[in-house]
Amino acid sequence: MDILVVGSVAFDSVETPFGRAEDVLGGSATYFSASASYFAKVNLVAVVGEDFSEEHIRVFNEKDIDIKGLKRVNGRTFRWKGRYDYDLNQAHTIDTQLNVFSNFDPVLPEEYRDIPYVFLANIDPELQLKVLEQVRKPMFVACDTMNFWIEGKYDALRELLRYVDLFVINESEAREFAREPSLVKAARFILDCGPGILIIKRGEYGALMFNGRSVFSAPAYPLEDIYDPTGAGDSFAGGLMGYIAYTGDVGEENLRKAIIFGSVMASFNVESFSLDRLRNLTMNDIHTRYREFKRLTHFEDI
Ligand code: AMP
Repeated sequence: MDILVVGSVAFDSVETPFGRAEDVLGGSATYFSASASYFAKVNLVAVVGEDFSEEHIRVFNEKDIDIKGLKRVNGRTFRWKGRYDYDLNQAHTIDTQLNVFSNFDPVLPEEYRDIPYVFLANIDPELQLKVLEQVRKPMFVACDTMNFWIEGKYDALRELLRYVDLFVINESEAREFAREPSLVKAARFILDCGPGILIIKRGEYGALMFNGRSVFSAPAYPLEDIYDPTGAGDSFAGGLMGYIAYTGDVGEENLRKAIIFGSVMASFNVESFSLDRLRNLTMNDIHTRYREFKRLTHFEDI
């Protein structure tokens, strides 16, 4: 079934110990869409400026992503500049330029309003709320955020959490949001804000899911070479939501599989800068790595 995503479409400038990229295609909704497109039809809501070219549009077309909701307006596309040191889990933001996102008022095309799976990718929580107000009875709503919004729009984010089924957040941001150093206590705090399910992304240490009384821990794939972690969180969310939308099943067992598909997509994404790897995968690549994950964590009962 279809997925609706709202989030950033951006030009990123990224520096890692292994190289750099200048003004390359990025953004939370971009990474999410490319990743989820392997599992389900994705419909995108975002805004770009006049500097967004046909070549960039081709990336969405290639993956059959519906961009009726991608508005092009006067001005410059959103820009993010970041740096990673040897600890690739921690992105250091050098500069954020909202540009066309500062005045963006998302209006959903009529046919987007009945889409059953909704992902509110990292963007201003006020815009995430505006999108949510326009959809009619979605089956499952998930959202992401980052420290920039926790620090700048805390109240809007708290409000948003009342209406989502699943919240996906980084480990350090979960602690920051809950103002609580213990991850388990932070998780309880966040669940009390509304979402039934919480997934905490832990970079190269994997992900933790809190679902009611159950806790599930998934590893990350032990890659030999990581070039650029940008978009790992969004491609994780893309694989996760893509698999949920493909199966239509939000039971605990299926959610565990979905988390592994998310981890598979994130592991491919960090093997290159921008979307270079995500653009060229096959279902066979994805399934092969899924099975490697299974072997990685399998052990017998005592
Ligand atoms: P992640 O998956 O967490 O690595 O997210 C990386 C993407 O987030 C980059 O491609 C950025 O363009 C985008 N990004 C960075 N800061 C923001 C922000 N404040 N709002 C929305 N998107 C952002």
